[in-house]
Amino acid sequence: MAKFLILGKNGQVGWELQRALALRGEVLCLGRHDEGGDLSYPEKVAAAILNFCPNAVFNAAAYTAVDKAETEDKEAYLINAQALQPIASACDQIGALLVHYSTDYVFDGSGQTPRTEEALPSPVNVYGASKLAGEKVILDSGCSSLIFRTSWVYGVHGKNFIKTILRLGQAKETLNVVNDQVGAPTSAEFIADVSTALAIRVLSGEKSLLGTYHLVPDGETDWCDFAKWIISNAQELNYPLTLSAQAIKGIPSEEYPTPAKRPRNSRLDNNKLKGLFPKQSIHSWDTYARRVLTELAGI
Ligand code: NDP
Repeated sequence: MAKFLILGKNGQVGWELQRALALRGEVLCLGRHDEGGDLSYPEKVAAAILNFCPNAVFNAAAYTAVDKAETEDKEAYLINAQALQPIASACDQIGALLVHYSTDYVFDGSGQTPRTEEALPSPVNVYGASKLAGEKVILDSGCSSLIFRTSWVYGVHGKNFIKTILRLGQAKETLNVVNDQVGAPTSAEFIADVSTALAIRVLSGEKSLLGTYHLVPDGETDWCDFAKWIISNAQELNYPLTLSAQAIKGIPSEEYPTPAKRPRNSRLDNNKLKGLFPKQSIHSWDTYARRVLTELAGI
């Protein structure tokens, strides 16, 4: 029976991985507070890997506080990059596949077109730079890996934009949201299902699938249109609201300054990924978002 180790079990993606991997084999789930689950002590994580000896390690743990990372850069680099050295090395030692998650923030956000996996990364903030450094650590280690770059993650479990807008939608009558950052909202459920499917295929012998993928659904939106979509769909689901979609106003990023600069163009080209799945099995972002919204709205 295959064995899987999940790191970051309580994050949005870690939570969904617990579900996606449940019937695939024996699963050990570790969070920050479990022995061997804190990436601040990567040697202990490596020891847990060597001890459990899984076929694959899914690393869903990360330092994800994008704005705080600007001042807590040491911690961001420790969790998102340095910790991966002993983890990747332990995976290599036992021949385990390392499944890892990265971000659209490895790119600078210039231009208007989706970036492929081969596009040159050039992060504009500390978080993005630390995630890029993490990718490099894994690739340099020589361990078998699947690296999935994703964007704008949301799910039923954890903190995310959908939940924030639903909360504000019950408290406010008007709202300003930036409308010049474009990307694809990606459901944690979708990320877990896709990465599990590919990991199983690699473990079944399809070694040519190893590598880096852009794991996003089809389509694109900006944060303002996403907020409008959330409110109008929540309204359809009879969610009690004080805010209407028409009362959400688009503003440029300059009017909503944040410690960390955000890329304007977060479009990721998902054609490499889509080529591995049956035609039309990967849908537009709103198909997945509607499912999560329906759960959150309590229907
Ligand atoms: P979350 O922030 O929901 O989860 C991250 C998890 O990592 C949390 O459970 C957190 O624990 C844990 N963690 C933080 N520090 C440590 C540590 N020192 N040791 C162990 N665990 C730790 O992230 P997501 O699930 O949304 O993200 C999953 C992956 O996707 C990450 O690699 C992220 O970089 C990437 N990604 C995320 C995006 C997003 O919009 N969220 C966008 C693009 C990529 P705790 O709750 O205790 O802090």
